Amino acid sequence: MSEVIQDNGRTVYPIIVPTSSGLGSFNFYLVEEEGSVSLIDVGINTAKCWDFFNESLGSNGFSLEDLDRIIITHNHEDHVGLVDRIVSERDIPVYVPEHSIQRLKRDKDFFRMRIEFFARLYREMGCGETGEKQIEKLKAALGDHDKKKVQADLTPIESDPICGLKTIHTPGHSPDHLVFLDEEREWLFSGDLLIKHISSNALIEPDWEGNRLPTLLQHEQSLEKCRSFDVQVVFSGHGAPIENPKDLIEMRLEGIKKKAEKMLNHVKRGVDTASELGKTMYQGKYESQFSLVMSEIIGHLDYLEANGKITKEMDHGVWRYRAL
Ligand SMILES: [Zn+2]
Repeated sequence: MSEVIQDNGRTVYPIIVPTSSGLGSFNFYLVEEEGSVSLIDVGINTAKCWDFFNESLGSNGFSLEDLDRIIITHNHEDHVGLVDRIVSERDIPVYVPEHSIQRLKRDKDFFRMRIEFFARLYREMGCGETGEKQIEKLKAALGDHDKKKVQADLTPIESDPICGLKTIHTPGHSPDHLVFLDEEREWLFSGDLLIKHISSNALIEPDWEGNRLPTLLQHEQSLEKCRSFDVQVVFSGHGAPIENPKDLIEMRLEGIKKKAEKMLNHVKRGVDTASELGKTMYQGKYESQFSLVMSEIIGHLDYLEANGKITKEMDHGVWRYRAL
C-alpha cells in the first residue's frame, strides 16, 4: 500500500520501494503537518530507490525543496541509504539515534573493537574455522569504511518528542533502534521492530565498551513495551502497514518462546555448543548466513538461560550449555 493517511492536520505519504528480497519492500515515510515536512528513514542507496523516491515526491505534489528534515530509526544501511544524496541536493538536518553516530560515521576504534568482540565471541561459541572466516570478512570490510560512511552532518535525537512524535528506545534488532509514536493519532513508525510478514532478527552486537548485549531479550522487552501503547496503524520499515498490532506482537513473542523450546530439546539431547546448535537447526544456512544464524542461536540461548532452563560452563575456552 502506498495509500496516503490523513488525520487532524497531519498526513503520512508512505514511500514503498519494492524489492525481490524477503524484505518485500524498503519503506520510508514523508510526514507533513502545517507545511513542515519530515522524512522518516530514507531507504537504500540504489538508483531504483532514488528514482522511486523522486517519483513519489512528485506524484504527491512535493519536491526536494519542500523537505525540512530527515529522522532515522536505526543505523542499518537500508534505512539511511539516501541520506547523502538528499542532503547534497537539499541541505537539511539529519536526526539520528545518539548511538547510531559512531556506526554511521564508521568510527575506526569502534569497528576495531567490534571485530575483536566477534572474534572472541565466535571462539567461545565453538565456531572454529567458520568463525575465523567471518572475522576475515569483517576485517576486509574495514577497507570500504571511508567509502561507506555517511558524509552528512548528523544530529543526535535528544528532544522527546521530535516533531510531535514520542521517541522510544527499542533496542534488540539494533542497539540504537528508536520507534516514533504519534500518541494523538495512534500511529507508530516502527522501523524494523515490527514487520508484518517476517519476524525481525535480534542481531548480536556489542555495546559501546565491547560487552555483549542480550539482544533477543532486549527485543522481547521492546515488543512488550510497544504492546502497551494504543496503536491503530504501524508504519513498518518493510512490507505492509499493520493495523491493530497487538495480535501480531503476541504472535512474535510466542514465536520466540517456541523457537527457544525447540532449541531446549536439542540441548537436552546433548547438542551443547552454540555452533553445533547452529549446524543442527539451520544446516546449510550455518555456513551461508553464518552471522544471522549465530544471532538466532545465541539470542535464544540467552533467553533460555534468563528463564532458568539452561546453564553454561566454560570448557577449554568454549561455552557448553546444559539443560537444568
Ligand atoms: Zn534494520
